[in-house]
Amino acid sequence: MKYFILFGPPGAGKGTQATAMAEKFNLCHISTGALLREEIKAETELGKVAASLINEGKLVPNELVVSMMASHFEKVKGVDGFLLDGFPRTVEQAISLDNLLAERGEAVSNVLSIMIPDEMIVERIQGRAAVEGRADDADISIIRQRIATYHSQTEPLIEYYQEKGLYKEVDGTGSIEQVREAIFAIL
Ligand code: ATP
Ligand code: MG
Repeated sequence: MKYFILFGPPGAGKGTQATAMAEKFNLCHISTGALLREEIKAETELGKVAASLINEGKLVPNELVVSMMASHFEKVKGVDGFLLDGFPRTVEQAISLDNLLAERGEAVSNVLSIMIPDEMIVERIQGRAAVEGRADDADISIIRQRIATYHSQTEPLIEYYQEKGLYKEVDGTGSIEQVREAIFAIL
């Protein structure tokens, strides 16, 4: 099985690109953000914990996200691999993922990062706020907090995967098609 990680700041276009990648390479696209939003909608215990944190621009506790991922790896059949979008988001999560995959005799195949500058993050998220109706997209102070969370907790993963020789980056500032071509050229 392939385990691709789609990396990048909030609003970089991970979800958009994931759809095309999953189709082309027969991967199961798993977005932790989308899964958490489903938990919130279903008003589960996990959803209740997640809702307040997400709407403060903070991360959901590692152990909750990791167990959510583990149960998905078990459930999904009939694909050539997984495309992880929004996970891992901390070095601790990356280590948990490595351990989880090692138990199955597997490993992360590639980390593909879509990079955009902070000001473009704000612009894009504000642009989609009306379309997607996410509470965490609607407020500039939450967006700023998510960017801060990204820099402090998620960005260190770049070095983590660079050291393993797995990290590749594309420029996310172009059109959807341009970014897609850049990704396919690498994969
Ligand atoms: P994008 O817009 O590129 O999809 P995003 O950061 O705007 O990225 P999601 O990935 O959907 O949005 O995540 C939304 C929120 O869900 C995060 O701000 C965070 O609170 C929570 N979340 C998602 N994934 C994780 C994770 N792996 N660990 C902890 N919290 C997470
Ligand atoms: Mg997303």
